Amino acid sequence: MIEGRVLRRFDPWHGSLCTCPTKYSLSPYTGCGHSCLYCYISAYIRDPFRPRPKKDFLRNLSKDLTRVKPGQLVSMSNSSDPYTPPEEELMLSRSALKLLLNAGMRVLVVTKSDLVVRDIDVLSKGNSAVSITVTTMDEGLASRLEPGAPSPEMRMKALEKVSSAGIPTILRLDPIIPGLNDSKDSISEVIDRAREAGVKHVVSSTYKARADSLRRLLSSFPELESVRDLYRRGERVGSYMYLPRSMRKAILGRVRSLVLEAGMTFAVCREGMPELNSVGVCCDGSHLTFRGKLLLAPDPCGSDEIGGFGGGNCV
Ligand code: SF4
Repeated sequence: MIEGRVLRRFDPWHGSLCTCPTKYSLSPYTGCGHSCLYCYISAYIRDPFRPRPKKDFLRNLSKDLTRVKPGQLVSMSNSSDPYTPPEEELMLSRSALKLLLNAGMRVLVVTKSDLVVRDIDVLSKGNSAVSITVTTMDEGLASRLEPGAPSPEMRMKALEKVSSAGIPTILRLDPIIPGLNDSKDSISEVIDRAREAGVKHVVSSTYKARADSLRRLLSSFPELESVRDLYRRGERVGSYMYLPRSMRKAILGRVRSLVLEAGMTFAVCREGMPELNSVGVCCDGSHLTFRGKLLLAPDPCGSDEIGGFGGGNCV
């Protein structure tokens, strides 16, 4: 897989638990204005919640695209949201989508913003799918947890509009944080709403704590102090603290049952529990980006020709 200046292979932390297909990661911005308390970018990006465009981004992307094979998967974005507030004016993500789809790449948009609806006209012209994160339907809780992001209802409406335009959609119910959004009622509410919105696939995972994000979370939710102990008793994967495995399995098993009952497919992210994943799907939902001619690909996550599984080194 040839890497470019801005089209980078997605394996930033060489994690052992990732089951993602081989893909490029593309981030038009450094930093993100959604300012989610649990966000991990604060561990490696200076001034993490001040989004700024990458220098010469579109010029570099155009150059990169002259060197890579068409048909490969690009995930936009895995680090800073492609629809972070400055995108409304700067339209870097919109321009990037045009370049990528014109070059025959498959694109998986990963966002927490309803601004993606603006780009339905572009997305519908190529092999694309849209993944939107909703962690809770409780507007009050979401505004504390993800203070710069659009409300959950706005995100669900965006999923509805994108699905209605014929572009496959994915819900990321992620992260699940014990004591905040792990109750059956909370999970059911999100899943029911996603089903109504036409979502095809759900990805879920539990919160993986890092020292800085845990500090932010507990300073806004001091009532969650006991959660710190749960993480102490759990597993350590690289610099991440995980909940105890039995607890993660119970939470994700609950989500899985509700998702399957609702008629959608399911996968977990970086949990080391691939047995929970639906058969025949890519965990990140990228199997849904195969449309038009590429539907002929025999195995959506496994064909070398179009860039299939490459060892799962992302986290
Ligand atoms: S939207 Fe994603 S990148 Fe942006 S602050 Fe939230 S978790 Fe971080």
